[in-house]
Amino acid sequence: MKTVFEGSLTQADNRRVIPYSVEIPEGMTQFHLSFDYSPIHTEGQPYPQQISFAIHDPSGVRGEWSRPTAEGLHITPASATPGTLPGPIIPGRWTVFLLSHRIQPPIPVTYRLTVEWSDDPVATAAPEWMPGQATDRGPGWYRGDLHGHTIHSDGSWDIPEFVAYMRSHGLDFVTLSDHNTISGLTQHRSLAENGFVAIGGTELSTFLGHALALGVHEWFDWRVGTERELTMPELAQRVLDAGRFFVIAHPMAPGDPECCGCHWEHLDMMPGNAPAVEIWNGWWAEYNEQGVQLYYSWLNAGHRLVATSGTDIHERPPADAQGRAASNVVYAESFSEDGILEGLKCGHSYISAGPELLLNAVSDSGAMAMMGDTLPAETVTVTARWQNAHEDDVLRLIVNGIVQHMQTATVSGEATWTLPAGSAGWLTVELRAADGSMWAITNPIFIGITE
Ligand SMILES: [Zn+2]
Ligand SMILES: [Zn+2]
Repeated sequence: MKTVFEGSLTQADNRRVIPYSVEIPEGMTQFHLSFDYSPIHTEGQPYPQQISFAIHDPSGVRGEWSRPTAEGLHITPASATPGTLPGPIIPGRWTVFLLSHRIQPPIPVTYRLTVEWSDDPVATAAPEWMPGQATDRGPGWYRGDLHGHTIHSDGSWDIPEFVAYMRSHGLDFVTLSDHNTISGLTQHRSLAENGFVAIGGTELSTFLGHALALGVHEWFDWRVGTERELTMPELAQRVLDAGRFFVIAHPMAPGDPECCGCHWEHLDMMPGNAPAVEIWNGWWAEYNEQGVQLYYSWLNAGHRLVATSGTDIHERPPADAQGRAASNVVYAESFSEDGILEGLKCGHSYISAGPELLLNAVSDSGAMAMMGDTLPAETVTVTARWQNAHEDDVLRLIVNGIVQHMQTATVSGEATWTLPAGSAGWLTVELRAADGSMWAITNPIFIGITE
């Protein structure tokens, strides 16, 4: 049995969510979706059309199909195309949402969407992923990545390959953050073991900006800025109220049509109730520098924000790849998902592509602070310590967004500065290469700012 929907799209249909519903009868065992469209990519156009699908069954979301392929999307009780979840074909109304990210001339783009179902006998045992467990090593500094993709959205590798790559780079924890789906999280979590914490996540990929929901194991409706009555601050609040962490991702990345939805354009959230922003996404690049400066301007506007990084990796990089991605080095009270997320929420972390960079401060009355902490509005003595830097690196003390002090760093060392009472609201330390590119940056210490 099947239903065919036909339609066409023009550039006026960009950033739309178009629903197609079918009624699935009792006793079905297979659900199949195929999508044919033309032109896919026209000569002379730099980018192909970009169309994806969200699939909802009568009980809720079933997943997302980020990259429609000729084979189509298949769901049975025992198996499902990555991005969606296997399980019973529940009778009732199933809705397929066509998501139009990028429609390029020549237009119109014509398409045929075919939804099929059957009661052919199939295997019924879905894979069961048993959660793995890392032994808690107690309080300490742990290094990890907070942003990565697999075949469950637009990545090219599966979850075991993704995790093996991360572990081969010495990471203690990794978040899986596929676009608008949680279908890979149980497998990801099953790979946790001694020395490795698998953190849940998803990248809430709206048409007007992306955000990471970290620590999530549940789906959040991301469809803001469309016909739906949902705003980005409301979505962020749902994530935060569930005890998860919310990070504005790559706010200054190029946007449409180069990278659809990648540039942060939620003007009702600049940064609004966001507690964190990803200032180093992928390899260090000009848009990351702009992200750092945006972050500083938000701190100066009185927002107390945590800075994070993420490789946003989608596949194994070529062996000769040139570029510098960063990890988050987090002080966690416990080596666990909760412990690492709690350390992040406190801003007890720095971002680094290699060097160790610690920042501490003490106030005149003896109050002590690490990154993320607040000191009373007194004269403070600030100390930065670094290791594994490079001979010609430059250390910069940033106070209220301005370079207050700059010195050659050498490979390892320590620097101390005194900031008179009233001269600083917040401070960070940056370690940069001689050409100005970043090696490491701390989260801020706040002075006299309690909000
Ligand atoms: Zn993104
Ligand atoms: Zn991403």
